[in-house]
Amino acid sequence: GLRTGDQYVEGLRKRKHVEIYVMGKRVEDVTAHPFLKPSVKSFKATFDAAFDEDTRGLARAYSPFIGEVVNRFVHIHQGPEDLVAKVKLLRKLSHKTGTCFQRCVGWDALNTLYIITGKIAEREGRREYVERFIEYLKYVQKNDLALAGAMTDVKGVRTLRPSEQPNKDAYVRVVEEREDGIVVRGAKANITGIAVVDEVIVMPTRAMTEKDAEYAISFAIPLDTPGVKVVVGRQLNDSRRFEEGEIDGLPYMFNHEGFLIFEDVFVPWERVFFYKEWRWSGVFVEVFSNYHRQGYAGCKSGLGDVIIGASYGLARRLGVADKPHIQEKLTEMAFLNETMYSAGLAASWEARKLLRDGGWWVNPMYANVTKHLVTRFPYEISRLAHDIAGGLLGTAPSEADFKNPELRPLLEKYLQGVPEFPAEERLRLLRLLENTSISVAYLIESVHGAGSPQAQRLSIQRVYDFQKVEQIASSLAGIKTAMAPDLKVEPHRQTDSEK
Ligand code: SF4
Ligand code: FE
Repeated sequence: GLRTGDQYVEGLRKRKHVEIYVMGKRVEDVTAHPFLKPSVKSFKATFDAAFDEDTRGLARAYSPFIGEVVNRFVHIHQGPEDLVAKVKLLRKLSHKTGTCFQRCVGWDALNTLYIITGKIAEREGRREYVERFIEYLKYVQKNDLALAGAMTDVKGVRTLRPSEQPNKDAYVRVVEEREDGIVVRGAKANITGIAVVDEVIVMPTRAMTEKDAEYAISFAIPLDTPGVKVVVGRQLNDSRRFEEGEIDGLPYMFNHEGFLIFEDVFVPWERVFFYKEWRWSGVFVEVFSNYHRQGYAGCKSGLGDVIIGASYGLARRLGVADKPHIQEKLTEMAFLNETMYSAGLAASWEARKLLRDGGWWVNPMYANVTKHLVTRFPYEISRLAHDIAGGLLGTAPSEADFKNPELRPLLEKYLQGVPEFPAEERLRLLRLLENTSISVAYLIESVHGAGSPQAQRLSIQRVYDFQKVEQIASSLAGIKTAMAPDLKVEPHRQTDSEK
């Protein structure tokens, strides 16, 4: 069934002995902690979306697994329309949060596990994973759980495989196999939303060899499982969260990422969905990362809308909105923004089935193109926004100055542009623009989330059929000789990624 946002928040309070640290101190209640409250609010928006008038159509889906309507964030895609709805929903949610709402990684993990466990059953006749996973999926859907997904290992020496590392725990691994389950050790980095979820799905982070088998694992556990520690990462301007003001104190929402440490954590067998499956590990990562690459079309274009909106609002307050060079910049921003979104829609409409009945996956070429655009265009959109906003974006006085009765009339007088707009509006838009256009969610995450730029280039090179296009060119050029077999690039055909 569906949970409301308030029920989600209530659920977070019921977690037992979660071990979460912010700036060196243990956090008792994430829902009341100034550093994490903005994250809770943002995550909460994914639950409220199922009830809000303007999003409920997109945010609800019918699950054939439990025969009920579920929140789309725990839904298994049943066709291209569902993948399109994902991108559209994410764009709308960015408008409500102004930041990353953190729930998509767990959702993409569910869809990935559905495909991988299903594929192992189809190919190798081993059904234990898919059976366990479907039971887990039903549990997640019935309880509308908040999930994080943890893929990125800390990786130690980057040139060495997991089994070759001087630190054996540089990748999360099984340290003990028991009759009732496994014991795991290791750490995952950069985990979006990790402090404010009910459960986390752990996934392998790279292709592996037989020697790496103990690292090729996937499982799900509640965040309050003994031995799990979360160390929340810092972000730019994060101490403003402690100010609790209504302009500078970040009254709106923020995301967080964290370090997730497993100190010999027990996982029962029914929660292990992938065990020493080193052969499938590379495919696992590919299926997951393409899902998340597609998603960026939605959330980043939604943030782009917020940034373009703030820029336009500032231009109007400065009286320059109709100047040709400003209009040109705004148009360029819209073009860049819609380009990212369009690529994500293409990745969705061109979806394909990876299982005999279901397992709808994005088009890998367009998903990679989407994410690769996202590694560049937000920086360009931000640059243009900063250009339009003016230098005050980096130097505006504080909310406290504005509230000082002696300073306020002076600041109102001297920070005002076009008279019908109060100076405070300008300050509010500047703060919003600062917090969105220079944020982790819009910039750094756009580069590295769901794989750094080079990962997309490798995928694009692999998926694009260079041999076929040489044939096309050769035939047009009237070349009859057979093609050289020793091409520098070794492309897989597009259909090959349906392994
Ligand atoms: Fe969702 Fe975007 Fe945040 Fe990823 S970055 S979790 S796709 S909002
Ligand atoms: Fe992300």
